[in-house]
Amino acid sequence: MTKTIEFKGRCLCGAVAFEGAAPDEPVSSCHCKQCRQWGSGPFDAYSVPLANLKFTSGEDAIKFYESSEFARRGFCSKCGSSLFWHADRHPDWKDRIAIAVGTLEQPTGLTAGPHIFCAAKADYHEIKDSRPQYAGED
Ligand SMILES: [Zn+2]
Ligand SMILES: [Zn+2]
Repeated sequence: MTKTIEFKGRCLCGAVAFEGAAPDEPVSSCHCKQCRQWGSGPFDAYSVPLANLKFTSGEDAIKFYESSEFARRGFCSKCGSSLFWHADRHPDWKDRIAIAVGTLEQPTGLTAGPHIFCAAKADYHEIKDSRPQYAGED
């Protein structure tokens, strides 16, 4: 049985706070250009069912930027912290949301998963661990 992760997170200023419990998922590190521009990359994310994410404050402080045809990126409008990647217009993925895992309180109980979009990684970024590497999303 998959273990359940109880998580609690917030943005840098604390205006946006959230929590929840969701199945364990390895943390993916995205090396794509968009993630790099958005948060100086790579973007480390923990993906959860959207219904398992509850806001305890500041849901109205979140702003979304539509970064592609099917996805949007959520950030705090007060401090600018990157918070979520959500494929809200993708039929298969819209019910899940990727949380910027750096927003979560330690210890998270999570483990490191694959490096994705390695084909687009920055030239200065050397991947030296033994985690799986994918050129694209898998
Ligand atoms: Zn904030
Ligand atoms: Zn990315």
